[in-house]
Amino acid sequence: MFLLFFLKFIIGIVIGSFIAALTYRYPKKISNIYGRSFCDNCKKQIKWFDNIPLLSFIFLGGRCRDCSGRISLRYPAIEILTAVFFVLIGFNIIWLILFCILEVIFIIDLENQIIPDIFVFIGLAVVILNFQFLSQGVIIFNSALAGLVCASFLLLVHLLTKGRGMGLGDVKFAVLGGFIVGLPLSPIWLLIAFLTGAVVGIILILVGKAKLKSKIAFGPFLIAAIPITLLWGQKIIDILGSH
Ligand SMILES: [Zn+2]
Repeated sequence: MFLLFFLKFIIGIVIGSFIAALTYRYPKKISNIYGRSFCDNCKKQIKWFDNIPLLSFIFLGGRCRDCSGRISLRYPAIEILTAVFFVLIGFNIIWLILFCILEVIFIIDLENQIIPDIFVFIGLAVVILNFQFLSQGVIIFNSALAGLVCASFLLLVHLLTKGRGMGLGDVKFAVLGGFIVGLPLSPIWLLIAFLTGAVVGIILILVGKAKLKSKIAFGPFLIAAIPITLLWGQKIIDILGSH
């Protein structure tokens, strides 16, 4: 039992380390996605024994061996986040792959305010292939419809706010998100994303981290709302319906 838990955690740490590198390099168009890591500060190549996920960060006290420059907290944070979700999800390959794709989009949008199309396409391919595999004709139609409805709604917001409230990346992502949560739950999904986005936006303005006109990426809210919707969406619908 403990061994299995440990194995999932270690796999999560290793995949998380790869995701941390990918999400850093992809938006900066560093072609060498799989290449060796360099220190951001002194640009020296990091030796293999200083590049062991999580452990090296702890042993080096979060500093580069050569220049003592701080190593960004994003690396251990992403590794631990991935490991925790790998433990929670277990050995469900489709959900593990989907989680990784959503995590990549989450991080890239949070840090760069952009959702690269390629990751949305990969996510859609995984979801559709999974349906094909299970041959659930009715459900795939239901999900495709949900994706189209969600994307149309966000496109409307995009057009009404002249692109300031919603980027086209979010509109395209809504096809994937709608596909994942399906039809009865998709309005709840968008509602949760808008509400959490508004609450966090107001908090950021109140603590002075953002201004009224600052652009805050909406993708992370759309993505964080997916597991909330899948876990508690039906309960939320029941509660709203009973009043
Ligand atoms: Zn350095």
